[in-house]
Amino acid sequence: MDATLRARWERLRERVDDACRAAGRDPDEVNVLPVSKTFGPDVIRQAAEDLGLHRFGENKVQEIRDKAMALAGREADPGIDWVMIGNLQTNKAGVVARLASELQSLDRPKLAVALDRHLRAENRAIDVLVQVKTSPEPSKYGLDPERLLAFLDELADYPTLRVRGLMTLAINTSDADAVRGCFRRLRRLRDDAAAHGHDLPRLSMGMSGDFPLAIAEGATEVRIGTAIFGARPYPDSYYWPEVSDGRGGAP
Ligand SMILES: *Cc1c(COP(=O)(O)O)cnc(C)c1O
Repeated sequence: MDATLRARWERLRERVDDACRAAGRDPDEVNVLPVSKTFGPDVIRQAAEDLGLHRFGENKVQEIRDKAMALAGREADPGIDWVMIGNLQTNKAGVVARLASELQSLDRPKLAVALDRHLRAENRAIDVLVQVKTSPEPSKYGLDPERLLAFLDELADYPTLRVRGLMTLAINTSDADAVRGCFRRLRRLRDDAAAHGHDLPRLSMGMSGDFPLAIAEGATEVRIGTAIFGARPYPDSYYWPEVSDGRGGAP
């Protein structure tokens, strides 16, 4: 039993609850998605067994494949739900269709087509969030907000993709107003979509460094890596090739 992991988890959950109260929200409204990228199967097994966590966010299909293989079919299979949160190449949609319970980074029609095809072959449906670009940074992945309504209309044609909400990454800056502006933009896009008949209850936004701002703006799920698992062994430029400054590293 890793006392450090438990202590970090409990501290994080306290901070999330505090942020909810500060925003006048019920802590039960905000879910934490533990992001286990770069950490191996043993850490995930421990988080599952000691902390009762069963959903984990990953941002590379290869890691989902390797970890699912390492953890499946063992004596005490922890029954993990893998949530893909990273940029997904269309030619790797099959892995997500086979192994993931959810995709939070659906950001283009071509990917929806490929996923639907693979999911029908697997006879499965998964929850999806549409990743929207709310940051002015040129290289961030995500759908252009102007195209959101048309994309949501298109997705209605795919019963294999259960559209549950929106996801975003805020701008990478120490300017809290700019970060908060990204989260606010996502909430407003959600409200606007609702006015057009699209029910999108979930907003996945906020990470270790900025989740209180996201909660203040209505996040229903925060994606937390570092604050639970500690600093990652590789710089984030390896995982987010478009980021060069080690965003989301050690707290
Ligand atoms: C890594 C990652 C996170 C978590 O980042 P931390 O700063 O470690 O909490 C959240 N969302 C996405 C898409 C990520 O890739």
